[in-house]
Amino acid sequence: MKSPALFIDRDGTIIKQIDGEYISSINQIELIETIFPAILMLQNEGYLVIMVTNQAGINKGILSHEQVNEINQHIIQSLKRQGIEISGVYVCPHKTEEKCKCRKPEPGLLLKAAEEHNIDLENSVIIGDSEKDTKAGLNAGLKKVIKI
Ligand SMILES: [Mg+2]
Ligand SMILES: [Zn+2]
Repeated sequence: MKSPALFIDRDGTIIKQIDGEYISSINQIELIETIFPAILMLQNEGYLVIMVTNQAGINKGILSHEQVNEINQHIIQSLKRQGIEISGVYVCPHKTEEKCKCRKPEPGLLLKAAEEHNIDLENSVIIGDSEKDTKAGLNAGLKKVIKI
């Protein structure tokens, strides 16, 4: 049986964005707690929660994979304390010029998650703070996309 998923962006959606900067340390993490009730509501309805994030800083040489993983793990643990279970984290490390298939608005992160978690894309939803998120959702075949 396929499950629907809530795909959720990271920077600007779960944690505060820092203008013109990449978040490179856990000290910079500030949770956006106002989004938690929406995540919990969908989780309680049976949606898997999957975080999808563009991190071009990796391939620009500004961030390491390890830094990004540490930040993501920290976020996962913080959300867990709020009752939110993140089932998967998908990161695009590429720069725009690399023209990869995963940097949002491309749908690659969502498609990979769908394969690995048996996700029903059509009945899934994406929430993000950018049109890149909503477009990635539409490109992956989602019917519901929400820009906050
Ligand atoms: Mg964002
Ligand atoms: Zn990519």
